Amino acid sequence: MKKVIIIGAGPAGLSAGIFLARDKIPTLIIEKFSPGGNMLLTEEIENYPGFPNGISGYKLSENMKEQFLKFGGEIKLGEVERIDLNGNKKIIKLKNGEFLESEFLVIASGSTRKKLQVKGEDDFIGKGVSYCAICDGAFFKEKEVAVIGGGDSALEEAIYLTKFVKTLYLVHRREKLRAKKYLQEEAKNNKKINFILPYIVKEIKGKEKVESIILENTLKEEIIELKVDGIFISAGQKPNSEFLNGIVKTDKNGFIIVNEKMETNIPGIFACGDVIKKSLYQIITAASEGMIAGFFIEKYIENL
Ligand SMILES: Cc1cc2nc3c(=O)[nH]c(=O)nc-3n(C[C@H](O)[C@H](O)[C@H](O)COP(=O)(O)OP(=O)(O)OC[C@H]3O[C@@H](n4cnc5c(N)ncnc54)[C@H](O)[C@@H]3O)c2cc1C
Repeated sequence: MKKVIIIGAGPAGLSAGIFLARDKIPTLIIEKFSPGGNMLLTEEIENYPGFPNGISGYKLSENMKEQFLKFGGEIKLGEVERIDLNGNKKIIKLKNGEFLESEFLVIASGSTRKKLQVKGEDDFIGKGVSYCAICDGAFFKEKEVAVIGGGDSALEEAIYLTKFVKTLYLVHRREKLRAKKYLQEEAKNNKKINFILPYIVKEIKGKEKVESIILENTLKEEIIELKVDGIFISAGQKPNSEFLNGIVKTDKNGFIIVNEKMETNIPGIFACGDVIKKSLYQIITAASEGMIAGFFIEKYIENL
């Protein structure tokens, strides 16, 4: 039986692993793709401290992985399909049919940003298509951008982006927005925000970078082309928590509920990073929550 198993090698899982492995606690991370998580989708990270000239997501991922392995941590490639409990033992079933057991479990499986699933979207990620205004807003100073969505986070992102951009188009498929009234008021009073309602995105076009988006009116036959330098997709975020099998408490959207020690409602199961319910989903918050989970697991082990 392993002492600690961590699910997910993004910044949360790797930071928890670095803390534990450095304290000589045998730690295994299970990762279904490649260590780095969503950092690998980020060409340039400018808001993680310690890198005044920014750092590529790939390099930051490699650095964190190397630091974990240097302290004796182990990474196993595989997808976790299901978790079960047997007394204090955590039973982890992988998709290939293998079973693993651990005393402590850290769920750091992150989240997936919902996509529009339109032509051009995948081609221009990091080249004008973004899923995170706080991460990428500063790259669009004095540019024309569109935010897609009509909920609270779309309006919050739109308002935030007006600090940087020249013009902002808020595109939503309905005539009415879903966001809270006060956000709608704030957005309507903001001179930089232009509402494009009710339209859906049909295609994202460009050569090297995004140059325009094709929009279709949802009420009448009309197609328009909007020249933009960037498009922020705010269609929601889905936690990667299906494999939990209902054993850990989550909110209605599947985000795991933790306390300030990153403990879930099940003793010995911790969670950190984008898979938990919280207010800021960033690399620095994921990394610090991972460290907190590692710290309290170490305390438990010390006192056993
Ligand atoms: C396009 C984009 C750009 C971003 N830019 C920035 C930025 O500039 N600055 C910033 O601070 N933040 C940025 N973010 C947010 C940041 O990437 C996340 O907040 C952070 O990566 C969350 O870390 P995490 O470890 O919780 O999850 P993730 O990074 O999502 O890592 C989770 C890992 O778990 C693995 N996993 C999931 N399910 C399973 C399973 N069943 N079995 C095994 N492994 C599994 C995944 O493959 C993944 O590697 C960006 C996000 C995106 C999508």
